[in-house]
Amino acid sequence: MNSFSLYGKADVVKKLSMMKKSGRTPHAVIFSGESGVGKLTVAKYFAALLICESPQGDTPCAPCGNCRQCRRVAADIHPDVITPSRTGKSQIYTRDTMRDIAADSFIKPNDTDRKIYIFPDFENTDIGSQNLLLKVVEEPPGGVQFIFTVTDTAKILPTILSRAVTVNVFPAAESEAERFFEDLAKFEKADVIKTLQVFHGNIGEGLKYLENGCHSEDINRAVKASDALFSGNEYDFNLALFEGSDTVESRAKLRKVLTLFEKIIRDAVIVCETDNADFISPYPEGAKRLAAKFSARRLAAIYDSLTEALNALSYNTNTALVVAALAADIF
Ligand SMILES: [Zn+2]
Repeated sequence: MNSFSLYGKADVVKKLSMMKKSGRTPHAVIFSGESGVGKLTVAKYFAALLICESPQGDTPCAPCGNCRQCRRVAADIHPDVITPSRTGKSQIYTRDTMRDIAADSFIKPNDTDRKIYIFPDFENTDIGSQNLLLKVVEEPPGGVQFIFTVTDTAKILPTILSRAVTVNVFPAAESEAERFFEDLAKFEKADVIKTLQVFHGNIGEGLKYLENGCHSEDINRAVKASDALFSGNEYDFNLALFEGSDTVESRAKLRKVLTLFEKIIRDAVIVCETDNADFISPYPEGAKRLAAKFSARRLAAIYDSLTEALNALSYNTNTALVVAALAADIF
């Protein structure tokens, strides 16, 4: 496993390899996908591929992982691969940062013929700030390359989107995620199996879960919501899902909790319908209890309410409103 080993990313690797080999890399590349699928890992891989001193293989070609450039990219210390930082309470790229980057892009690179800016989670940027970057993204100085990662391209200026090539990053196949954890050789097999059941091919989310000793606040909240549904306690249900604020982060958090809760309900529906349920949620016991109490039809209706709530979240509806509407729907 070298620093640029990618798991379950064959499609992306092929695309990037073709960009590199064509000799005409787009000025801006956007890696889009849900949180945990490895967008930033892919972004760094691409940066390394662009400046690697001895790329390996032909089609696809990959960064070697060993040359001076690759090693510095992997260690996040390459002077020509710049990751601007997000600041403030809501962790955004500020206008000052954008102005600095725009000015910096005209300064020659230090050690390569490229200057690469990687903006992780670029959706955390207001439109005004994005506008400040637009000019250099449209017509960057020679050798300047922008790489963005986003969970939602709808939050990116259409003018930036149209100047960039968007590459979708998907979760790995579960077998690839399993291979990743095997190669990492850091966790017990039983824990890995449990993690794969919950997070499937989402290696980043799975890794976070394992690193927390298989403890996840999100899972606890989904479990609490499920228990509150079982006991018919609307107050506890609200409490389990309540975010307390409405920011990009709290919306993302609520999305995770609701997605996990949705899996529990899905399992409950399956338990109602078959004796041999294949569980995908982190709370099979809870799913079984719900299945014993509610009809498949009622559970399916709850599932639909959850899908609606998740949709509302993707349209930036306030978290408190989403939770209130969901509770009203369910109880
Ligand atoms: Zn290299």
